Amino acid sequence: MSADCVFCKIINRELDADIVYEDEKAVAFKDINPAAPVHILVVPRKHIPTLLDLEEEDQPLIGHLHSVANDIARAFKIDNKGFRIVINCGADAGQIVFHLHLHLLGGRPLLQTIAKGRGV
Ligand code: AMP
Ligand code: ZN
Repeated sequence: MSADCVFCKIINRELDADIVYEDEKAVAFKDINPAAPVHILVVPRKHIPTLLDLEEEDQPLIGHLHSVANDIARAFKIDNKGFRIVINCGADAGQIVFHLHLHLLGGRPLLQTIAKGRGV
């Protein structure tokens, strides 16, 4: 938990969000500024600022986040046509929230570019 982190506040219900999934390790909610018809953020409950801050013990957690993203893709019926998972890390990637998150994007054809959450 980081006191000034917007995603920690969502996880702790101090800030409203459209939460679509949660379990003991992860929470998923709709992106407030969606870049695609389905744009969901999958976040660990643990406050990890960036991908570079991962520790050895976090490896199962990263696998779990991907598994959760798969389940949500199925629930939102974007599994058949396909979807994209994006993790932005640091300034050049355009990371603006420093609590690790997977962007799950789908529901329309996504450009075949090197993508970030916004510019898909
Ligand atoms: P990133 O550039 O990877 O750090 O992306 C952060 C994402 O979080 C952006 O797509 C924002 O639209 C989204 N976001 C920021 N604040 C909120 C919020 N309060 N609820 C839902 N999504 C948010
Ligand atoms: Zn946080």
